Amino acid sequence: ALPSAAPTAASSGRVGRMRVTHGERIVDAASGLTKLDLLRWYDAVAARMLPHLKGRPVAFLRAPQGVGHAGFFQKHAERTSIPGVTELDPALWPGHEPLLEIRTPEALLAAAQMNVIEFHTWNTRAAAIATPDRMVFDLDPGEGVDFGAVRDGTLLVRTLLDELGLAAWLKTSGGKGLHVVVPIAERLGVDVVKAFARAIVAHLAQELPERFVLKSGPSNRVGRIFVDYLRNGEGATTVCAFSARARPGLGVSMPLHWDELPALRSAAQWTVADAAARLAAATADPWADYWRKRQPLAAAMKRLGFDP
Ligand code: ATP
Ligand code: MN
Ligand code: MN
Repeated sequence: ALPSAAPTAASSGRVGRMRVTHGERIVDAASGLTKLDLLRWYDAVAARMLPHLKGRPVAFLRAPQGVGHAGFFQKHAERTSIPGVTELDPALWPGHEPLLEIRTPEALLAAAQMNVIEFHTWNTRAAAIATPDRMVFDLDPGEGVDFGAVRDGTLLVRTLLDELGLAAWLKTSGGKGLHVVVPIAERLGVDVVKAFARAIVAHLAQELPERFVLKSGPSNRVGRIFVDYLRNGEGATTVCAFSARARPGLGVSMPLHWDELPALRSAAQWTVADAAARLAAATADPWADYWRKRQPLAAAMKRLGFDP
């Protein structure tokens, strides 16, 4: 079930066991991709995407009228529940409505049928809600930063992490920048992990001020890259690996091998139109070892001179 590169004429149909309504609807005018194309992508990628979704809170970006129209970010069930989507124990996040989780291919497709385009996840598992199992560095290029500089900056982030003894994994955002993800031992509180992520970015910005900024805000980052450590805060989310983006072209957040970085042309190099073809052609999962690495941070903190 590969998504077709060309817009499909089918008005409705089945994707997996899911009956798609309004499958013909154009989700993205720029590419002509339809709701059916989007559902076929999620059907094709479900087995690879679920390990990234299972067991952790998820937030949705829903855009019933498609890309370029008002959408909404949804962290809780709210009025309409989505069949198969799990409501987590409300005690996980006191003072909020229950968080959501996607555990099955059916729930993933049901969400897409309900016009969810993007899936975003927490850095913590529901079973250990206070202790992240990953650290995320979200490279956000400012105005005037070409993609070559994004590639170079990403490699520099990797080099620093490597010097700290931390293995990291790379994915496109499906938008403008790249994401570097460090799987960590589920031991430290979210505030400590965030403070350490900030210290890593502060070090980069101090050593290479012409390339990196620590402060967010568009005016601070003109010509430079903001390495967004704020993705590591409590309740913060990052777009899930393999999620489509509600932006022109329907880019996909694609996990990559570091060897692929030098030839990467854009953070939206893979889209709903061609991402399934990449997966069908690829032999090895570039993130296969990600799941086996649970890195303690004590030694890295010491090496950076970070005192938790
Ligand atoms: P790019 O590469 O273009 O920067 P991105 O996914 O890294 O893409 P954004 O789309 O700007 O960056 O989103 C930043 C983060 O904020 C996302 O990871 C997402 O999880 C979160 N986010 C987005 N919209 C909302 C919202 N309305 N409320 C809370 N968090 C949001
Ligand atoms: Mn970003
Ligand atoms: Mn960001």
